[in-house]
Amino acid sequence: MSSCCEQNTNVLLVTLSAQGHLNPILRLGKSLVSKGLHVTLATNSSTLKNMSSAPNSTGGIHHEFFSDGLPIDYNRKANMDHYMDTLSKFGPVNLLALIQSHPSKFACIIHTPFVPWVSDVAADVNLPNAMLWIQPSTLYQIYHRFYNRLDDFPTESNPDMSVKLPGLPVFHADELPSFVLPSNTFRSFDSILKQVFHNMHKVKWVLGNSFMELEKDVIVSLNNGGHVFWPVGPLVPATLLGKEEDDDLFKSNEDSNCMEWLNKQKPSSVVYISFGTLLFLSEKDIKNIAAGLKSTNRPFLWVIRMPENKELPEYGFLDEIKEQGLIVSWSPQTQVLSHPAVGCFLSHCGWNSLLESVVAGVPVIACPQWTDQPTNAKLVTDVWGVGVKLKKDSDGGFSGDEVGRCVEEVMSGLKSEVIRKNALELKAAAREALMNGGSSDNNIRMFVDEVVSFCS
Ligand code: UDP
Repeated sequence: MSSCCEQNTNVLLVTLSAQGHLNPILRLGKSLVSKGLHVTLATNSSTLKNMSSAPNSTGGIHHEFFSDGLPIDYNRKANMDHYMDTLSKFGPVNLLALIQSHPSKFACIIHTPFVPWVSDVAADVNLPNAMLWIQPSTLYQIYHRFYNRLDDFPTESNPDMSVKLPGLPVFHADELPSFVLPSNTFRSFDSILKQVFHNMHKVKWVLGNSFMELEKDVIVSLNNGGHVFWPVGPLVPATLLGKEEDDDLFKSNEDSNCMEWLNKQKPSSVVYISFGTLLFLSEKDIKNIAAGLKSTNRPFLWVIRMPENKELPEYGFLDEIKEQGLIVSWSPQTQVLSHPAVGCFLSHCGWNSLLESVVAGVPVIACPQWTDQPTNAKLVTDVWGVGVKLKKDSDGGFSGDEVGRCVEEVMSGLKSEVIRKNALELKAAAREALMNGGSSDNNIRMFVDEVVSFCS
């Protein structure tokens, strides 16, 4: 092994094999390469089967793979608990072996949140460690305060209480992330987040997939509270920022009809609807969205995903609106959001979708379901003012009338004008943050300078 100062500084990125983790860290890696660092990305061998090719390197980033102890074809998505268990057992040993046998010495390790054991490996090999936080900075603050028991949160005896945390507005219980509520049933996520926030003292820098102008109060509050929390985003696909390069690591199953169809629509006329990659809508929700769309008579592009190996049933209520819009099973979302025909985005408020919407300047109709989505929806409506939220019924669903009302509120009238203006201002701020001398660009430079200084 040669010293890192003899060559250019070499940084190791480590992530689990999930698209929502790999894509942002890969984009961070590209930024680091553009600032002169050498970057190696290490992930589970199982990632290889989903990659568009099996490259040794993408965009200047060298790829390494380590075993998580499971066969390549094991369905990790369907058995998350078992995957996380074996990964935390085999990951540290296999990652350590990879680092020790690597021809060049690393100057720093950066990991995504759900592999908290990487901090222990970094300490074992005496390397400084950074974490790329891939959700909003707001969520980092909420989890930090919750898992370190710094504030009171809703309990079984007081399930509806509101919470006021430093740098954040008051959150009602139904605006908090589902994992901090007494009703949470996803114990494996709860336990991994607990480990993440109990291991944070081993992490020197937190790099956030956000930007200062988007979450200023909470970012300032975190830094004043002793965290080194530097936003370096938005880490969105290059195409969304008007660059030609295709920086997606994964094969896509995009429906090319979307762009052809959008080309035929009037500017800002289309309602785009998508609930991300993990949620499946019930028949009742599909029926109510269809009724709402029908009542507006506006064109729509709707991604309806079904569980693996299942087809969308032939619902009569969808037949009634088939002339009004286009239903697909997958869309090239970033291209869709950049298309001038799109007027608003009815979204589950996953963080990637929201950042993409912010960068494209598209107003949002928030329909959050779980995890960080209820909190992200609050940012959309009450903090950024770039959208409205669908009101839920007492059974947690929503009516067709409510869908129609929200679409009209965002697409026409006085409130819509204010929302559109705010969305365009955020769009400009997002681009400025990434430009030379912008807030995120400065944070990346600062991080690179510190890492390089460890080698000299
Ligand atoms: N996505 C896409 N086409 C689709 C649906 C989703 O390209 O039809 C992409 C979307 O652009 C985003 C990601 O999938 O980058 C979804 O991530 P998000 O954090 O919004 O939601 P999740 O799937 O994690 O709930």
